[in-house]
Amino acid sequence: MAFNIAIDGPAGAGKSTIARLVAKELSYIYVDTGAMYRAMALYFLRAGIAAGDEEKITAACERITVSLSNEGGEQQVFLNGENVNGLIRTEEVGKMTSAVSVYAPVREKLTQLQRELACTTDLIMDGRDIGTCVLPDAQVKIYLTASVETRGRRRFLELQEKGINCSLEEICEDIEKRDFRDMTREISPLKQAKDAILVDSSEMTIDQVVAKILEIVRDAE
Ligand code: C5P
Repeated sequence: MAFNIAIDGPAGAGKSTIARLVAKELSYIYVDTGAMYRAMALYFLRAGIAAGDEEKITAACERITVSLSNEGGEQQVFLNGENVNGLIRTEEVGKMTSAVSVYAPVREKLTQLQRELACTTDLIMDGRDIGTCVLPDAQVKIYLTASVETRGRRRFLELQEKGINCSLEEICEDIEKRDFRDMTREISPLKQAKDAILVDSSEMTIDQVVAKILEIVRDAE
């Protein structure tokens, strides 16, 4: 049976950075499920479908295929065969993603694909509902979080490094809105699974978080 590590938590907690490093240490595949939701959101944006139009979104799900490949340890996400990795990290796509990931047809499509991957492959998968819904039997479950201020500051510095002008206040507000929507939606809301271990990275370095998770994995092996 494959060994699965589930990492859930709010936006900006450092899930993808940490999961990528842990995957490298363990020679596991890293699956970023947020990228899959983002690819679907990109489809709806391109098609001019409003986030509130559940009927059109449901119908469009039939026309969408999301697939993944791994190139040199980096996940590539494909939308109907097109590599969209470079197009899904914008704030516009992020907001659309959080708005459309509340719909059952969107979630069902991706949950199925995520389960298929986890069945056959040792992996570390991050998202919002991995420990609670997608992989309830994962051998290790982590709930990685940090304060809104810390997460906002990290995102602010990341955007500044890319030369993108932004306000820290607005970023923190966006994060709070996204958390609220992800945590209060009806289907698969973001919450800590009963058997997940809480890691608060507010006062921890990346190396410290990676070391902590590797320790948890070793204890579970
Ligand atoms: O992790 P990332 O910020 O890329 O996720 C973007 C959005 O996708 C989240 O805010 C959330 O609404 C949605 N998502 C989800 N379930 C997952 C992963 C992401 O609903 N497993």
